[in-house]
Amino acid sequence: MTDVKTKKSKYQFKAETKKLLDILVHSLYTHKEIFLRELISNASDAMDKIRFESNKGTDFRDKDLPLEINVHADKDKKILYIEDAGIGMTRDELVKNIGTIAKSGSEEFLKLVAEHKEDANNIIGRFGIGFYSVFMVANKVVIKTQSFLKDEPAMKWESDGLGSYIIETLGEDKKRGTTIEIHLKDDMDEYTEKYRLESIVKKHSSFISYPVKVENEVVNTMQAIWREPKSAVKKEQYVEFYKFLTYDTDEPLEIIHTSVDAPIQFNALLFIPKRNMDVFGFNNREDYGLDLYVRRVLIQHKNKDLLPEYLSFVKGVVDSEDLPLNISRETLQENIIFTKIANSVTSQVLSHLTKMAEKKPDKYKDFWTAHGKYFKLGYTDYANQEKFMKLLRFNSSECKDENELVSLEDYVKRMKDKQKEIYYVLGNSRAAVNLDPHLEIFKRKGIEVLYLYEPLDEFVLTSLLKYKDYEFKSVDQADLKKVDKLKDIEEKKDEIEKLSKDDELQFSSLMSRIKEILGDKITEVKESTRLLNSPAVLVNPENSISSSMQKIMNITGQTQSIPKKIMEINKDHKLIRNLIKIYKNNPKDEYISTVAEQLYESALLLEGFLTDPHEMVNRINSLLENSSDWYTAVKKL
Ligand code: ADP
Ligand code: MG
Repeated sequence: MTDVKTKKSKYQFKAETKKLLDILVHSLYTHKEIFLRELISNASDAMDKIRFESNKGTDFRDKDLPLEINVHADKDKKILYIEDAGIGMTRDELVKNIGTIAKSGSEEFLKLVAEHKEDANNIIGRFGIGFYSVFMVANKVVIKTQSFLKDEPAMKWESDGLGSYIIETLGEDKKRGTTIEIHLKDDMDEYTEKYRLESIVKKHSSFISYPVKVENEVVNTMQAIWREPKSAVKKEQYVEFYKFLTYDTDEPLEIIHTSVDAPIQFNALLFIPKRNMDVFGFNNREDYGLDLYVRRVLIQHKNKDLLPEYLSFVKGVVDSEDLPLNISRETLQENIIFTKIANSVTSQVLSHLTKMAEKKPDKYKDFWTAHGKYFKLGYTDYANQEKFMKLLRFNSSECKDENELVSLEDYVKRMKDKQKEIYYVLGNSRAAVNLDPHLEIFKRKGIEVLYLYEPLDEFVLTSLLKYKDYEFKSVDQADLKKVDKLKDIEEKKDEIEKLSKDDELQFSSLMSRIKEILGDKITEVKESTRLLNSPAVLVNPENSISSSMQKIMNITGQTQSIPKKIMEINKDHKLIRNLIKIYKNNPKDEYISTVAEQLYESALLLEGFLTDPHEMVNRINSLLENSSDWYTAVKKL
């Protein structure tokens, strides 16, 4: 229904809005005060927009209004008012902006609460959940707003936050901007108290870059600390600003405050959070970027081009004297000065991390644990590749446990005489990798191997190709001739008796027999030089892709087959020595087939390629049964 004179219309909230309102009103009992932070932040955004228009030279209503936020209350009527001189809203904007949830944050918030991943109360402080939070304290809200556009009438929006809202023309004069009229619920008297309002503003909104007045007194005093010399800013101020900026309740892990003068002037105040925000399960890839200021004026929130995506965990602000105030967000990327600033900010962050890695290795480790997963994606940043590679960390065979990390530089320093390659192995865990037969020869030679636990790690290394002059090589692709040339670190324990000439020949025939048994499943059977404790292993033919890449291709559906490999046999292993005896007695002994099949499937299993374990389990059961017969016979039971 639309009234002709006032153009009064009633609208229904969308389902998702109703859901959010319901949660806000019924399940949140603490932190209600953050509604004020949200409304002040909206007021500040609205004034950023008008300042932006002003810089562009747009003509608009009430040009000389002071840009400030007024908070005042009517104790008797129990109404709280929040007034700004921002950009205002038209009818359409009221419907579009207030009537629907636009913010990704609210959606994530909803999802999270719906999944019961976290108690809403715990995270609400970290989230900008927006305008609707006002209904935690209000039973009615009236918005009176005048758009900056000269031809637009002032509008009124009203709702009790239940199912619907009403919009009509205000019918009286209003200065540009928006006034939010909050009719407080019965038990919400505290929000008419001056001291209470002041303390909330100080706590949550002290870095708003416009004066915030409570009952006509300016409350927020700290502004633009990134413009201050480092020596003038206290740690507490940095921390407070960080919390204001990120909604994080924790202190930042690291603070980077720099001022660059040449060739381009800019100040940057950057933070590395202790945790990655993704720990909370949000897919917050949209929620990153640095705030860009020009001469203390906010040009863009969360600009995504000041830092490459792999550094998106960095939060903060950049402020430059050298960019024009009227620069538009659309043309920023093509601006040479902006590009130079962005490059410089990136290299500042990388240098800072480099210094941290050198001087505070424990802190660097914390950084790596929290953000390494994203940081690794920097392998595509060719301009900074050298710095980037020095910052990479891995677990390795030289580490005491899975928590220790090594750098590529550490690795290279420890390399064996004449070693020309950097070796790595991919596995699910340190325990699994430690048992990988491919590593036996590396252990024997005392060659360090990087332990990679995520497929991405291998992508990173294969894309980087090499560090300094040393190529990255997967252990299952390493050229063993090169490895074998390096000296053993220890004499083989219990030096096993050499095979007689005749047994050597028998071993050769045994290998042919095994190939016959396994047929097309393998390419060939070879004597192994890499094994120490295992009887057999599968290796990739030269120039084939590594096993982990094959697995990725299987997962992504690019191939579905079990790759054909070479089976290497360790002739010094007790089992193989026994097989030679059995073979000599009867080359067609069924036991040889059983063992060959089992060795093959065990190797497949270790490599992660065994898809159907039924046959294998049956075989093992029958082997166990037989061995129990032998065991009871030997023990005379
Ligand atoms: P967000 O601020 O994250 O966009 P909100 O729920 O806080 O989400 O606000 C929704 C939208 O309503 C804002 O994006 C803005 O367009 C509009 N809005 C809210 N408050 C104001 C205000 N005081 N002046 C102008 N527009 C406002
Ligand atoms: Mg908001």
